[in-house]
Amino acid sequence: MRLRHKPWALDYMKEQASIYIADPATLKGNWAEEFKNEHPLYIEVGSGKGAFITGMAKQHPDINFIAIELFESVAVAIVQKLVEEPLPNVRVLTVDAKDLRDFFEKGEVTRVYLNFSDPWPKSRHAKRRLTYKTFLATYEDILPEQGQIHFKTDNRKLFESSLMTMSAYGMTFDWMSLDLHVNEPEDNVRTEYEERFSALGQPIYRMEATYGK
Ligand code: SAM
Repeated sequence: MRLRHKPWALDYMKEQASIYIADPATLKGNWAEEFKNEHPLYIEVGSGKGAFITGMAKQHPDINFIAIELFESVAVAIVQKLVEEPLPNVRVLTVDAKDLRDFFEKGEVTRVYLNFSDPWPKSRHAKRRLTYKTFLATYEDILPEQGQIHFKTDNRKLFESSLMTMSAYGMTFDWMSLDLHVNEPEDNVRTEYEERFSALGQPIYRMEATYGK
C-alpha cells in the first residue's frame, strides 16, 4: 500500500469517537457493551482503506466488525467512509496485529479475516507474514475453539506458505478456491486490492481454515 503521510489523520479520527477507538485495551472483554448488543464479532486484520469491512457490515447488520489497520494515514480512509455513510456495527483500530491479545479476550472474536496481506516474499522476512505461526497463535488466543480464519490473496507464494504454516499448526481447510472470480460467490465482498489484481487478470486465491479439528 503506497502510504501518503497524513499528519492530521489521528486528530481527525479521535474526533469520531463513535467510530475510532483510540484506547482499545480499555474495551478488552467489553466489546459487546461498546456495540450495545451480543452479536458475533468479526475482525479484519490489515483492512487498508476499508472497502471489505464496510461492504461486509452493510451485508451483515447482525454482525459486529472491527477493522485492524497498522497505519493511521490508511485507516483514516475507513473512518471517512463511515462518517459519510454511518454503519453502527463497525469500529476502527490502529494497532499492530501482534498485540491483539491486549484488546480481546479468548473467544471474544468469532472470526478473523485476512485480505491481501503483505506477502513478505524473502524467506528471512517470513516471520512478518500475517499467517506466520506466531500470528496464528495470537489469533487462536482471541478466537473460540474451532475458530476460523478466512484468507484471500492474489499472491500464490503467500497462499502456499500460508497453507503450510496453517497445516503445520494443526488447522484444517473447509473451503478453498484457486480462482475465486470464476463462479464468484454472490456474497463475495471485494477488497481494494482484489479489484486491482482482478482487473489485471490475476487469479484470486481464497481459503477458510479452522483451528483444532
Ligand atoms: N486488505 C486491504 C485490501 O485487500 O485491499 C489492504 C491490503 S494491503 C496489501 C495490507 C494492509 O495490511 C496494509 O494497509 C498494512 O498497513 C496492513 N498491515 C500490515 N501489517 C499489519 C499488522 N501487523 N497489523 C495491522 N495491519 C497490518
